[in-house]
Amino acid sequence: MANPSILILAGDGIGPEVMAEVKKVITWMGVKRGVHFDVSEDLVGGCAYDVHGKPLADETMAKAQAVDAVLLGAVGGPKYDKLDFSVKPERGLLRLRKEMDLFSNLRPAQCFDALADFSSLKKEVVAGLDIVIVRELTSGVYFGEPRGIFKEGNERVGINTQRYTESEIARVARSAFELARKRSNKVCSMEKANVMESGILWREVVQEVHDREYPDVALTHMYADNGAMQLCRWPKQFDVIVTDNLFGDVLSDMAAMLTGSLGMLPSASLGNPMANGRPKALYEPVHGSAPDIAGQGKANPIACILSFAMALRYSFDLGEDATRLEKAVEKVLADGVRTADLMGPEGGKPVSTAEMGDAILAALDASL
Ligand code: NAD
Repeated sequence: MANPSILILAGDGIGPEVMAEVKKVITWMGVKRGVHFDVSEDLVGGCAYDVHGKPLADETMAKAQAVDAVLLGAVGGPKYDKLDFSVKPERGLLRLRKEMDLFSNLRPAQCFDALADFSSLKKEVVAGLDIVIVRELTSGVYFGEPRGIFKEGNERVGINTQRYTESEIARVARSAFELARKRSNKVCSMEKANVMESGILWREVVQEVHDREYPDVALTHMYADNGAMQLCRWPKQFDVIVTDNLFGDVLSDMAAMLTGSLGMLPSASLGNPMANGRPKALYEPVHGSAPDIAGQGKANPIACILSFAMALRYSFDLGEDATRLEKAVEKVLADGVRTADLMGPEGGKPVSTAEMGDAILAALDASL
């Protein structure tokens, strides 16, 4: 059987720096675990614009469609800020998401005990937190028509339309239920069925998909405003949360930042299953290209490494190796190894990007 395939798009700024540490983990998987990947690399963002005059070449798009998983670093930087909107680095990323139809965005909020003091919430509220927000990514109010700013009488009116079809709701619900089966078998769906018809439909369809296909998963429903409050009050009551594009945008940012630095946050965007049963998938850290620290060896590679752990779990059914990698990160943090973004007020000497990667590899070795 062919090896699973990965396309690496390291991108701009700190993207290549943090991706270099992921490449070490990929090599480690082959040497120490006998799991080999066919890895190819290409350009996205500003570096693609420099070569092709656009942020994602058609050939790169075609490669992304053909592989089992895309790993992306970050795109953008001041050099490209004045470019026309149509060729800005971010357009490369948006094209990937759109053409791969990545409708299910997984944003974990996981708090490593060693970093619980970094949260703005009390330590006991966040220590050990491990939840995932599944956000619908390709429909809803960010895409619905009509939209625009129109003249109405003698004033302007801004319009956006919240619109969801049954099939759009059903497919993201399935994605959440499948994820729940790989975790604690528990899903909470959030909408505003009390004031929005799209919320009523959302609730009905999620319930129908559950009753028909996933009766083994525990399902609850919650109004999204209460959900925001509950996430601050006692986030550990949740496991998988599924919600629409707008509420998911807000709730996932809030939940993720409960847990500390931007340099720690991974994400996955999943689409429909391909012929081999694997979902179309793109994995990337939540952070951007961090031009302020690019090229200095200061970037924290953990968000990118944890994104690869998500790939192991969700694209390659290697949940045990994903957990091994997450535990290695946890061990390194517990040992006090810190990149500059993780230094507390007590100070100390931060490690470099490469030293953090090497420490994680050493912890992986020790886990065997
Ligand atoms: P950013 O995430 O790049 O940086 C915000 C702050 O967090 C900076 O101080 C940075 O140094 C720090 N930071 C980010 N990642 C870090 C890491 N791994 N380790 C240590 N510190 C880290 O956001 P920004 O400054 O608003 O944007 C910079 C560029 O990145 C812009 O061009 C923006 O458009 C782009 N961007 C890209 C993506 C993406 O590729 N998905 C996401 C957000 C922003």
